[in-house]
Order: sequence, then structure tokens, then C-alpha cells
Amino acid sequence: MNIEKSSFNTKLIHAGEIEDQFGSATVPIYQTSTFSFKSAEHGAKCFSGEDDGYIYTRIANPTIDALERQVAALENGYGAIAVGSGMAAATTIYLSLMSSGDHIVSTDAIYGPARSVMEKQFVRFGLESTYINTTDAETIEKAIRPNTKVLYIETPANPTIDITDLKACAEIAHKHGIKLVVDNTFCSPYLQNPLDLGADVVFHSMTKFINGHADIVAGVIITKEEQLYKQIRNMMVLMGCNMDPHQAYLVHRGLKTLAVRIDRAQENAMKVAQFLENHSKVEWVKYPGLKSHPQYEIGKAQMKGDGSMISFGLKKGFEAAKILMDNVHLALLAVSLGGIETLIQHPASMTHAKVSAADKQKAGITDDLVRFAVGIEHIDDIIDDLKNGLEKI
Ligand SMILES: *Cc1c(COP(=O)(O)O)cnc(C)c1O
Repeated sequence: MNIEKSSFNTKLIHAGEIEDQFGSATVPIYQTSTFSFKSAEHGAKCFSGEDDGYIYTRIANPTIDALERQVAALENGYGAIAVGSGMAAATTIYLSLMSSGDHIVSTDAIYGPARSVMEKQFVRFGLESTYINTTDAETIEKAIRPNTKVLYIETPANPTIDITDLKACAEIAHKHGIKLVVDNTFCSPYLQNPLDLGADVVFHSMTKFINGHADIVAGVIITKEEQLYKQIRNMMVLMGCNMDPHQAYLVHRGLKTLAVRIDRAQENAMKVAQFLENHSKVEWVKYPGLKSHPQYEIGKAQMKGDGSMISFGLKKGFEAAKILMDNVHLALLAVSLGGIETLIQHPASMTHAKVSAADKQKAGITDDLVRFAVGIEHIDDIIDDLKNGLEKI
């Protein structure tokens, strides 16, 4: 059976497997920094590329390879490059695709540090960036300059849950000869496959849904074509932002249950979204599964499910949000998302605190916005917890 061509849920369990001499059911952990060569000639051939034997773990390692093959299969990519964190994925992509004087156009409501690193660090090396509302194709067209090299999209965006049309973005990007990069963290490969919609590069913070158990920080980059794969892998190896074999093993273990975890989490999320929408103290709710979501149709067309991320605003704003956050007990008051546990946080004062007030306003990261990452606990308990918290307002 060709696992790489089988259905998604079968690939989740079996893609990337290693056949070892003992018939191990799981991927063995090759916890080694270096690999011995069979002979001087073999060593030389490993370095010249004539032999694909392992050399050194920063370059490649069998346990990490297994995870990379698995994720590449799930995203229908040419290959995957595992890295130490989601931010390592973002920065490796920036530095692989851009040179001094180049420009990137990006979603304004993106993961905070992915924006800060551009505006506060890489600007020193001559990289230029523009942050816009990418839900509007005309706004994207207007932001593209002669030196634009990358269109960088996060959809659904963090924390506004705005949805950007990926097919439309691919068309615009390729018309201008620029690369489309998509941060697919909020969906995971189970709910959205940007490479199939025309993206050139997709990446994940595997810290979130892919690992799924809030015990690992990790990232991965997947490319559509061989040439970009080689270019980005080379940058990763030189910068040294590789994964550790034990970390790769744990992500591989967590990833196998992705489908069942997300099925449950999004079933819960729909009920939470409906509960919030009908609550008298709630001003607005943004969830891809609600008809009131401004890009509901695009979400239905490009996502295979609605996910488990909800944003909402309370009628009494930030003061009420603080009371809610201090009075929920099941939901952890914590950043991150995509784990099996329910989390609540306030982006304007937490994950996006470093974005300027004006940019937050422009990106729709309002003071009243509460982000809710729905877990897989029993739905009645999640709703009771919210109900009790909201009563204290
Ligand atoms: C968490 C996150 C990142 C960064 O990932 P780390 O693993 O924390 O470095 C990037 N993008 C999105 C959408 C995220 O949620």
C-alpha cells in the first residue's frame, strides 16, 4: 500500500514510518549528534551527496526525517523542514526568500512576533514590510511594489479570525512573480492545505494543533517545489534552527491524533460560539462556523472545517473581559492554542502587547477582544465555566 497516496487519516497514523530491524510500531528516537561513516570513501560520498547517509543531526536525522516526511505528505508538499519553533520557521522563510532592499506584504493581524521581528529587527538589514487587511484583494494589489518578493498570509488571522481568500492571493502573487507564503497554524493540515490552493510555502507552529498537547515548542516549513525546499533547508542548516530528535519524536506522537482531536474541538467550538452569540453580555462573536462571520463563504470554500478558535467582545469592554478571565476556572488563562485544553487570553494586553496602539486599531485587535481556544473537555463543562464567569460581570 502506498501510504503517501492514502487518505488523510491513514497518512496521519502511518506516513513517514521507519522500518527498523525490530519492527518497532513507533518511530525510534535517534538521540545522536553525529553518525559514523563506514569508510573514508563513504564519508566523502555523504558530503558530496552521492550517498544519502546521515552526517550530523543539524543537517538531518532519521527521527526528524520521519516527522518531515509525515508532514509533507499531509500538506501535499515536495518536502518539509522541521525547525525548533514556529518563529524559527517564520524567520527562516523571511531570510531565505528576501535580500536587503526586498519588500514583503503581509496580513496586519498576524502572530505578533512574526510582525515584530520584521519591523524591529530585520529592518536593520534592509528588509521592508507592509501590513494590510488581506481580506480585500484590491488592498493587496495596491500594496505590491516593484521590490515585493513575498506575500505572507495568515488565515484565519490571529486574533481577529478574519479569513483571506488563498486562491485569490495565489493569483495576485504569481501575476507579480512573487511567492505566496501561508501560516497555516490555526487550521493545521487537517482543515486547510494552502499548497493545493496555490501557495508556494506553508508553515506551522507545531506547538499548536500538530503536536496538540501543550508540551512542546516546534515548527515546520513545507514547500510545493524542490528548488524552494533546497533553498530553505540550506538556510535552516546554516542558521542552526533545527529540531532535536526527542522533540521530533514527541511531535510525531502527538500528530497521530490530530483528526480526532480537531473533530472534537470544533464540535465543541460551534456550541461555544452559539452560546456566546446568544448571551446578553456579549457584543460580538467571530467564528468561521457562524453565518455572521464576514468571510463565511470563503471559509466554507477553502477550509474543511471551522476550527476551534473563537474571538468575541463583551459589551462592557476590557474591564468586563478582565472579570471574565479572572472568574473562569476550567479554561486556563494562558496564551498558545491548539492543545487539548481550553485556553482564554486577551491579545491586546498579552500576545499583541508589542504592536503599537495605532496598528492594533488598524488590524482590528480591539481592547474588548477576548480570544478563546476551545479544547476537548466535555462541552457542558466548558459552557458552564463561561456562564459562571460571565455572571460575575
Ligand atoms: C504560536 C504561533 C506562531 C509562533 O510559533 P512558536 O512555536 O511559538 O514559535 C506563529 N504563528 C501562529 C499563528 C502562532 O499561533
